[in-house]
Amino acid sequence: MLDIRDLTTTYGPVTAVDGVSFTAPQGKITAVLGANGAGKTSLLRTISGLIRPASGTTYLGELDLGSVAAEKMSSLGLSHVPEGRGVITELTVEENLRLGALGRADKSRPADLDRIYSLFPVLRERRHATAHVLSGGERQMLVIGRALMATPTVLLLDEPSLGLAPRIVAQIFDLLKTLVESDGLTIVLVEQNARSALSIADYGVVLNLGKLVVHEEAAVLAADEKLRHAYLGF
Ligand code: ATP
Repeated sequence: MLDIRDLTTTYGPVTAVDGVSFTAPQGKITAVLGANGAGKTSLLRTISGLIRPASGTTYLGELDLGSVAAEKMSSLGLSHVPEGRGVITELTVEENLRLGALGRADKSRPADLDRIYSLFPVLRERRHATAHVLSGGERQMLVIGRALMATPTVLLLDEPSLGLAPRIVAQIFDLLKTLVESDGLTIVLVEQNARSALSIADYGVVLNLGKLVVHEEAAVLAADEKLRHAYLGF
């Protein structure tokens, strides 16, 4: 579904992503793991067109994303949830959600909001609250919900667990698993929390200094003690 081919991303003299290739299959979760500075965020930003690669490309199905502008990606089915939970704090939860449907031809249908609210009941309860009152976990749910309002086929998620309590992380990760199983969504999940990510992922990609070290089934990575100690911190 998402085919990353020999992608290289540079910032001046710094090579952040160095010839990375892998495929994220449809209806599966692929976790992208690695230490600080390994190139995970740069990889996601390159896939979604926020940064142009120095070389290489990404295919969404048959479509070469290399020439697609970042603002067109969501209408093609690729949604990116960046690190940092950027909600518009002055708007209500529901207004933030509706923004996610702006790129779509049919805008937001009520059924979509209902679907998001059934996935995240807490957002339904707080639908008329302004987003600045939300907790970190609720904001993370809101940004994921907003991305889902664009009805993506591929969801790129950058560090959704950062700074959240383990119970909330488990809740969010369970929901990602549900989305993959029920909707056939393809997820690329960037995480430093490798242990939790591997517990829900189907495949894992490990980056080190921008290079792909290994691409394997998640269960195989989780069982590889040497690799875990060397690159994954558990
Ligand atoms: P983290 O988990 O800390 O976010 P990461 O694996 O996502 O790390 P990146 O943020 O992609 O890694 O960074 C990869 C490399 O690129 C690092 O050496 C980083 O210092 C460098 N880098 C990232 N963004 C920029 C930038 N805007 N300008 C210059 N160098 C950058």
